[in-house]
Amino acid sequence: MRPRREADRIRVRGIRGVDFHVVGPTRTCVGCRKRAPASELIRFVAAGSGDDLRLQPDPNRRLPGRGAHLHPDPACFALAERRRAFGRALRLPGVADTGMLAEHIRVVSIPLGTTDDTAAVAASRPSKVGRPR
Ligand SMILES: [Zn+2]
Repeated sequence: MRPRREADRIRVRGIRGVDFHVVGPTRTCVGCRKRAPASELIRFVAAGSGDDLRLQPDPNRRLPGRGAHLHPDPACFALAERRRAFGRALRLPGVADTGMLAEHIRVVSIPLGTTDDTAAVAASRPSKVGRPR
């Protein structure tokens, strides 16, 4: 009943010869300037206009407009703020309020405690080995 062969088709899709690994697209953290998988970074956009600009976290990556990325790490946030990387990354005409983004990072950077990921991965490993060359 179970389709066994189908799973073999899901392999790494070629992504235009760039040095992406299996992780997919990478983005640059505006704080520490390191590249990381987009899924590990927080996307944020500028909301409002004029004197009412603010940085808005976009955890679902759905907000329109120019976005920038940051590690969910208060240290990266502080770095970005100190070198005014937010305004440059988002091409803001003025200074944006960073309160919302700061709060979001503070919340998500709290450790969630221990996980059993390693055990789960080991248990779900398919036993099929010896792929033909
Ligand atoms: Zn960073």
